[in-house]
Amino acid sequence: MNRLLAVLREGDIPQQYRRTPIGLLLEYHNLGRQYELYSNAQLLIGMCMDNRKHLRIPDNFAFIIRSGGANLRYSEFKVSYAIAVGNVRSIALVGHNQCGMVDLVSRKEQFIRGLVESAGWEPQAAEEHFHQFAPMFEIGNEIDFVLGEVRRLRLRYPKVLVAPLLYRVEDNRLYLIQENSERREPN
Ligand SMILES: [Zn+2]
Repeated sequence: MNRLLAVLREGDIPQQYRRTPIGLLLEYHNLGRQYELYSNAQLLIGMCMDNRKHLRIPDNFAFIIRSGGANLRYSEFKVSYAIAVGNVRSIALVGHNQCGMVDLVSRKEQFIRGLVESAGWEPQAAEEHFHQFAPMFEIGNEIDFVLGEVRRLRLRYPKVLVAPLLYRVEDNRLYLIQENSERREPN
């Protein structure tokens, strides 16, 4: 977890995010900043659909796209809409630890059995469904995936501020992912 930057006070927020909607998100969620009134969204948040996560943010503050693994590759029109029509200039991409989109293949049998037993699918159709979509939605590693997605979004929307964050389910806090620590020591 040494690739994560904890935000415990205002001074922990790096310069490039201070006085931006990214900094405000960190202040609202982590530091209990008092809510301001918003009539327009300031920010687009991309985060996983996982049920263990809840953000403390004011009404109207953000658009939120939730998808497995905080993967926005298949939500591009919605991202473009939030920027072009919704007028947001910042994106917070929020991965989380213990994400179910990591190592999908280990849950293949459970996935197939669940579709058969709970949804009434034929086993073969369930298996084909898994094989068709698991490679698209597998994220490999939560932190590396968010960093890669952030790079992609910055190239796609060069005037938009994009920040990589991680939500730790143990303490329900947001952490900034340090971008200069991408090369990990072998462990
Ligand atoms: Zn997840």
